[in-house]
Amino acid sequence: MRVDDQLAIRSCRFGDIRLVQTLIATQSRSRRACAIGYGAHVRTTADVLVIGAGVCGLSTALVLLDAGFAVDVYAAEPPHHTTSAAAGALWGAHLVGADNRVSNWAGRTLHRFRELAGDPEAGITEMAGLVASPAAEPEPPSFTRGAGPVTPCDRAELPAGFASGWRYTAPIVAMPAYLDYLLGLLLNKGGQLHLGQPLRRLAEAESLSAAPIIVNCAGIGARDLVPDPGLTPFRGQVVVTTNPGLTEFFVGERNSPDEVTYIFPHGATVVLGGTQQEGASSLRPDPVTAERIIAGSIAVEPRLADAPILGHRVGLRPVRSRVRLEVQPISSRRYLVHNYGHGGAGVTLSWGCAHAVLTEVSALFGH
Ligand SMILES: Cc1cc2nc3c(=O)[nH]c(=O)nc-3n(C[C@H](O)[C@H](O)[C@H](O)COP(=O)(O)OP(=O)(O)OC[C@H]3O[C@@H](n4cnc5c(N)ncnc54)[C@H](O)[C@@H]3O)c2cc1C
Repeated sequence: MRVDDQLAIRSCRFGDIRLVQTLIATQSRSRRACAIGYGAHVRTTADVLVIGAGVCGLSTALVLLDAGFAVDVYAAEPPHHTTSAAAGALWGAHLVGADNRVSNWAGRTLHRFRELAGDPEAGITEMAGLVASPAAEPEPPSFTRGAGPVTPCDRAELPAGFASGWRYTAPIVAMPAYLDYLLGLLLNKGGQLHLGQPLRRLAEAESLSAAPIIVNCAGIGARDLVPDPGLTPFRGQVVVTTNPGLTEFFVGERNSPDEVTYIFPHGATVVLGGTQQEGASSLRPDPVTAERIIAGSIAVEPRLADAPILGHRVGLRPVRSRVRLEVQPISSRRYLVHNYGHGGAGVTLSWGCAHAVLTEVSALFGH
């Protein structure tokens, strides 16, 4: 059941912040009244204010709620309008500063995804697939590491234009459905989502809430918010079509480093990609790029030729030399915890980083 479909919205104007509070009757699986209000301040009783309602912000808020903290989320854009909503998304650390924390975070998320794959509402499927390269590579790409056995394919199994390939299984995530799922959990557990103007500086978050801890999960927004000039957008564009019956994913590198062909089936739909354009920040889908993505996908999977196009999505991967997950004191009694810069792996690292934030927050509260 999608949160967006379920919201019965009642709103009143009071200030510049929209308070979204959805009450979900878990037992009956039906959602009750939802109130959207406008207020000058978010709750003063929260322990933690999380900035950002993408996959990192929502996962972090959930882990903190489960540990007993009162959590508010503040975001300029709702979950469906984030970079997270544009992701494919395949588990596997890609385009992220590789340090020794990353494999632990990815492993923790993998474990959680495999648990959640049992819940049909989560939008996660453990799926077999093929990764291919135009060159005769001796090793599979590093993002396959950790998911389980990876086996080389015969050349005859590869689509035209590819010289090597490997098969393995990994979780793939239907992001709009998954973000709905996370938001539903957040609201059901007593968390709140506030939507409002983009914060210009982190100091604005300090005046927004009295919460002693603010967690920065602003994704590419952190570039201006922190500010952090070390954060670079890597633009990703995808096309969404109906699913002509595909049940396996495909990822194929192309000769240009900013192009890739991927095909991620999600039940009735398929996400086709994609691009990774360094420094590009337009959120407008480019028709020429869309044509290239569709042509590349059909070359790999001819059944897509007649699949109606349902939409286009664009997101900006927040790429940094390393994920920023660290505490920054604001004053003697208030702290900022940064959790951003996950590059092309924010989905893959989401639960692991959320637990790392919990460790920091618990220590700050003296737990
Ligand atoms: C096409 C594409 C494919 C991808 N595929 C994969 C994949 O297969 N696997 C994978 O693991 N990852 C993938 N990624 C990367 C992944 O999507 C990102 O790493 C992840 O979404 C980052 O999540 P986030 O929550 O940090 O940021 P976002 O999803 O960008 O969320 C940021 C939130 O912060 C809010 N915010 C920002 N600035 C402000 C501000 N100033 N004031 C208030 N709120 C603010 C925004 O409104 C938003 O709610 C892909 C990305 C793209 C674009």
